[in-house]
Amino acid sequence: MSDAAQPIKYFEKRERAYPKRIWGKYRKLKWIAMIVTLGIYYLAPFLRWDRGPHAPDQAILIDMSAQRGYFFFIEIWPQEVYYLTGILVLAAVALFFVTSLAGRVWCGYTCPQTVWTDLFVWVERIIQGDRVKRMKLAKGPWSLEKIWKFALTHSLWIVIGMLTGGAWVFYFNDAPTLLEQIIHFEVPWSVGGWIVALTFSTYLMAGFAREQVCMYMCPYSRFQSAMFDKETMVIGYDEDRGEPRGRHKKGDTWEGRGDCVDCTLCVQVCPVGIDIRDGLQMECIACGLCVDACNQIMEKVERPAGLIRYDTTHNREARLSGKPEITHVMRPRTFWYMSVLVVVGGIMLYGLLNRSASELHVLHDRNPLYVTLSDGTIRNGYDIRILNKTHEDILFKLSVDGVQNAQVRIQAAGNPDPSALLVYADSVAHYRVFVSAPKPSTARSTLTFTAASASGDIIETYSGIFLSTGR
Ligand code: SF4
Ligand code: SF4
Repeated sequence: MSDAAQPIKYFEKRERAYPKRIWGKYRKLKWIAMIVTLGIYYLAPFLRWDRGPHAPDQAILIDMSAQRGYFFFIEIWPQEVYYLTGILVLAAVALFFVTSLAGRVWCGYTCPQTVWTDLFVWVERIIQGDRVKRMKLAKGPWSLEKIWKFALTHSLWIVIGMLTGGAWVFYFNDAPTLLEQIIHFEVPWSVGGWIVALTFSTYLMAGFAREQVCMYMCPYSRFQSAMFDKETMVIGYDEDRGEPRGRHKKGDTWEGRGDCVDCTLCVQVCPVGIDIRDGLQMECIACGLCVDACNQIMEKVERPAGLIRYDTTHNREARLSGKPEITHVMRPRTFWYMSVLVVVGGIMLYGLLNRSASELHVLHDRNPLYVTLSDGTIRNGYDIRILNKTHEDILFKLSVDGVQNAQVRIQAAGNPDPSALLVYADSVAHYRVFVSAPKPSTARSTLTFTAASASGDIIETYSGIFLSTGR
């Protein structure tokens, strides 16, 4: 077959990366970030928060069976899921803000995929050796050594997968109780199923998919460049200083050549297997390991550090044109991100501080819209739903306003007071309510429902309608 007749290959075969061990400022930072993020992740579900005898004392808990979310002093009902939307909006905008300032630091240091992959690579390195040994072992034939090393690596990956991914379940259950159940092999099958599913998804993502998650699955890596501008910190190779690159022997002159000695250490340590000297690439997660690698080489060859470094495009251009290098933190992009953070954060805080202890919802009957009684009065029917978010029963007195001489009747078997709505602690009550009034002059009147607790400290109102034929 001629070359022209060859089918076009749209996908290149993946070359697995075998990152080499490196030590330096950014590697240290990555270990610290890993310890801090994993520490918070494990400790958070074990924090306690006293909410009294009627509510769980876990500070952070998503209680699916009770349909409640707990976050320290905040208790979120399903009706208040907008708080979750607000938190997600805040998290997304905060991420945009950080990205516009410092590039992909989230990806390089704190993203769970990065953290867990780092941990998996560390285990792989401890058991199978550094880059060259791992490559040799992977390419070599199956031997006893290869079998036990692979078996041990994968077994430890599964254990880490269980300890990391599987630990999510602690956020959905009482953590100390669940831990005890796990220790005694008494985990309910529903929870056990989640532990298994999360363990294996972590095992697959961090053990096999690795950088492919960032390249093909994570939407953020695709659109994060939209947050970049000339003032964003990115990892870059200083081409003007490094080129022309080439091998360098001790004692050789540096005249007429660049500082890059073409040792490829920056490529060997890269967890995504790219060459940063080819320019900024979508695959780069800004982990800084190539900076550590190159700085070590520059120290060895006695050249200044920073051939690869965090820098802004603006500063690079300024340097080339002999202008002073200045980083502008405040610019239109960061200003707008900050403004959205402040506005959304402010709205959420206001909402939380003024959060009501109850809610009243009234739904007018659709059919019939009204009934004319034998004495000529008009009766409308309503469904009333009233929430009691407190931990005590509340008896609400219901009244209506807006239609002359209107009378309310609550239809409820066993209700201690027929003019009142009893709502048990931490629950929702449904009632059928009828409002009767002499025929009003208009076909549609506004009717305000008021539910007030006996003590008068909780008052809820709802603006509804009263329909009739009109005069
Ligand atoms: S190019 Fe450098 S900063 Fe980017 S992923 Fe590779 S090692 Fe990390
Ligand atoms: S580590 Fe530095 S010197 Fe070595 S190839 Fe990379 S850029 Fe060049």
